[in-house]
Parts: sequence; structure tokens; C-alpha cells
Amino acid sequence: MNSKVAIIGSGFSSLSASCYLAKAGYDVTIYEKNSTLGGRCRQFVKEGFTFDIGPSWYWMPDIFDKFFEDFGKQRSDYYTLDKLSPAYKIFFADDIVTIGDTMDKICEEFERIEAGSSTHLRRFIGQAQENYDIAINKVVLRPGISPFELVTPETVARVDQFFKTISGQVRKKFKNPKLVSTLEFPVLFLGAKPSNTPSFYSFMNYADFGLGTWHPRGGMYEIIKAMQSLAEELGVDIHTETNVEKIRVDQGTVTGITANGKQINADYVLSGADYHHSETLLDKAYRQYSESYWNKKTFAPSSLLFYIGFDKKLKGIEHHNLFFDTDFERHAEEIYDSPQWPTDPLFYVNFPSVTDASMAPEGCETGFFLVPIAPNLEDTPELRDQYFDVIIDRFEKRTGEHVKNSIIFKESFCVKDFIEEYNSYKGNAYGMANTLSQTAFLRPKLKSKKVKNLFFTGQLTVPGPGVPPSLISGKLVSELITHKP
Ligand SMILES: Cc1cc2nc3c(=O)[nH]c(=O)nc-3n(C[C@H](O)[C@H](O)[C@H](O)COP(=O)(O)OP(=O)(O)OC[C@H]3O[C@@H](n4cnc5c(N)ncnc54)[C@H](O)[C@@H]3O)c2cc1C
Repeated sequence: MNSKVAIIGSGFSSLSASCYLAKAGYDVTIYEKNSTLGGRCRQFVKEGFTFDIGPSWYWMPDIFDKFFEDFGKQRSDYYTLDKLSPAYKIFFADDIVTIGDTMDKICEEFERIEAGSSTHLRRFIGQAQENYDIAINKVVLRPGISPFELVTPETVARVDQFFKTISGQVRKKFKNPKLVSTLEFPVLFLGAKPSNTPSFYSFMNYADFGLGTWHPRGGMYEIIKAMQSLAEELGVDIHTETNVEKIRVDQGTVTGITANGKQINADYVLSGADYHHSETLLDKAYRQYSESYWNKKTFAPSSLLFYIGFDKKLKGIEHHNLFFDTDFERHAEEIYDSPQWPTDPLFYVNFPSVTDASMAPEGCETGFFLVPIAPNLEDTPELRDQYFDVIIDRFEKRTGEHVKNSIIFKESFCVKDFIEEYNSYKGNAYGMANTLSQTAFLRPKLKSKKVKNLFFTGQLTVPGPGVPPSLISGKLVSELITHKP
């Protein structure tokens, strides 16, 4: 009989692990508390408008391709990818910066803003590309067990880049604040302030300018559908609306789970739910990390989100739009240093219907607005409304488009929903930040130190936040289970 693996949750990491384990011959079942799969990447459909609830930036297409290739498939067997051109637009107080789909176009835009900057940019992206190759092909594929995993001839040669920050590196060569913000933006995906992120992570800049921004036709949820279909082809059994209430342990070895009040036996349990929540499913003696451990960690931001159906097409916007027209530093301080609702928030707006007609009814626009905020903030309907008014006013002012009277419906999502929907620690949106002290072997472990045959995966463990890292996390943990590191 094949060994039975019970997987908790159906986010990218769980789905990824389920495929690798099923391929290796394990008898795999996924237990997801919600009614649909995908975790933070679920879909919301209303009145003909289609929204991705969470992730919307498809970066690092090579990692998705590699995932499907590991199963003898092509990504294109499942969904169609379009490269966005332009990739995105940044609204500053006095200018709009457009990031094109090639280095030549981006260099032209940099030159327009700061003469001579394109030479620095090409050098910076060249170095970022080298870091990308090292990070993706050498470092990230290691399970975070030992510090020596980080020691390769390539990382040793770049050791200074682990102790300098991306912020410092960018500011050395680029003087214009708009270019500085543009180049600091990609590391925000890692969940920490650029001034607290090692410069080695400039590989995110290569992901941005070098590899480009893509869109799966039909939205990000197409990836979840593809992974579900692959998992089912491989024989994974999937149960939705199944809340896991307990991870059962007997004399230090996992014996299964209790879900919806029923005991389910398993040889291995793998949790892709938020790590902190997963540990609360264990008796205290079997938890590896204390409440004070979690409390001291730097978490990635939470978010205030609005999903809006507009009754007209909007002008002057792109698929991805960043509103960096207020003080970047101050907003970052209000997320990380003195957590509070932001005084003058930066925000992001996604209009997938600009490039993909299937996302909205004809003549309409699907819009999702995101304000990054500190986790654990008070979340009330009044605060949500107050911030909605602030950002919609700014949006109208900066784009010159009147939209308030064109709103067919508006739904919001914030800290309370992250906790209720995903059992997210403090309502974080995308896990634990990748700072120097929270990188690789310094992150919560994939394999339990206290319970035999219990494993963890997802954005709170290695390699970290984001969709591509979650795919990799599922692969790494499946290798630990099958003992093939
Ligand atoms: C608003 C937002 C925007 C983002 N934007 C991007 C982006 O543009 N690009 C990008 O790459 N990344 C982005 N991310 C990050 C990315 O979505 C996440 O890193 C990734 O989806 C995390 O996947 P995961 O496998 O760790 O788990 P999750 O997606 O958190 O899935 C965990 C699952 O476990 C389930 N679960 C929890 N408790 C239980 C239980 N007791 N029993 C059963 N099931 C349980 C949950 O319901 C959930 O389905 C964004 C995230 C958010 C929230």
C-alpha cells in the first residue's frame, strides 16, 4: 500500500506539493476549509466581472513553466500567457512613468527622467540577472536546513550583497526619487522595506525589467485551475469545505488529522495553511515556535482591498497601475516601524479588463484597488469607507477620470477577512517578510523538529512570499518527504 499523505489547505504550495508527491507514488488527499481551491488566489465573479482576489502580478514565467515541465507537461497545455505592454504605469505627483516590455523602452524612459541613467540601469540589471541565476538555480532550491546551503562559490563572491541593502545600492547610482522608487518597488513583493532587504535580492529587478510582466488569459485563477487539473490527473483526491481542526500525534509521530469532526489517518501530514495556525492544530508540547517567536517576526503587510465593477471603460490607465504620488518612506514606516493606518497611502490598482476582454462585460472595467497596511490593525467598516474615499479621490485627480458615479458594485476585503478566510496570522496578506534575519535556514522549517512525519509548506517557510516561491516551497517539502533533496 502507498503511504498516505494528508495535506492541509489548497494554496499554491499545497497544490504544488500534492503533484510532486502523487507523481512519486504517494496516496495524496487535500483538505481545504473554503468552498473553492487556491487559498489567497481565489476568484470572485459578480455580474459578469471577474476578479482575482489576491495575486495579480505574474512574474518569473520560467518558474511556472518549469513546474509543468516537471510533470512532462507544458504550461501552454493549460493556459495562455500574454506579455503585458506596457508592463505597468507609475503615477507620481508630478509625472507618470511607463515601464515598457523591453529593456530598450525602459532605458528610454529612464533617460527621459535622468540623463545618463540608462547606462547605470543596464549594468544594474546585468548584475541582477546574475543574481537571479544564482538565486533561482542554486540557492532557492535548497530546503533551508543549514546555513551552508547559502554558501556557494557564487554567493561567497557576492557576500557583501547580503549585508548591503537594495535601497543603498539603488541610491548610489540613481538620484531621481522617481527612479529610486521604481527600482525599489519589486522587492516590496518580498514583504519588507527596501532599506531592510539585502541587495542580493536585486534579482527581483531582473524578474521585473528582464523577464517582464505577464497575464494568464482569464486571470491568475487559471493557474489554480491548471494545478487542480494536473493534481487530479496525477490521482490527488481533493476535499473542499473540510476544516482541519487537529493534527493528531501519537508518541511523537503524526497519525493523521481531525477534519469536520472526523478522524482521518495518514502516514504523513503536510500543512500549507499559515504556519502559525498549523502549529495551533497541535497539542502545545508538539509546537516548535512560541507566540513570542511569531510576535517578534517581521510580517509582510496586510492589505485593504476593493473589488469594483465600473459601468464604463476608463481612459489613461493600464492593466497594472501604481499610485506612488505620496511619501513612500512615510507609508513604509507606518507599515513596519510604527504600525498604524497610513496617513497618506500609496496604492495599487489592477484593471485586467484593459488587456483581457473576458474579465468584464462589454464596455465595462473590472478594477481592484489595494492599499498595503500593517498586519493586525483595527478593521472596521468605517475605516474601510474612509480609505476608499481617500484613494478614489486621488485616483480621479491623478487620472482625470470621473469614476464615482460609474461604480456598479464595490466589495471590500481586509485584516478581518484574511483571518477568517485563511486563518492568517495577524491578518497578513503575504506571509513572513524575507529580511536578512528571516532568510533561508533562518525561516520556520519545512520539517517539524518535534513531530516525526509532520511537514509544513507555504509563504511563511522557505523560500518565502509570492506565487513562484510557493510553487518551489511545495517542491522542496515533497523532496524532504520522499528523501530526495
Ligand atoms: C492581496 C494579495 C496580493 C498578492 N499579490 C501577489 C502577486 O501579485 N504576485 C505574487 O506572486 N504573489 C502575490 N501575493 C502572494 C501570494 O498570493 C501568496 O504568496 C501565495 O498565494 C501563498 O500561497 P500558500 O500556498 O502559502 O498558501 P495560501 O494561499 O495562504 O493557502 C493556504 C490555504 O490553507 C487553507 N486553510 C487554512 N487553515 C485551514 C484549516 N484549518 N483547514 C483546512 N484548510 C485551511 C486556507 O483556506 C487556504 O486555502 C499576493 C497575496 C495577496 C493576499
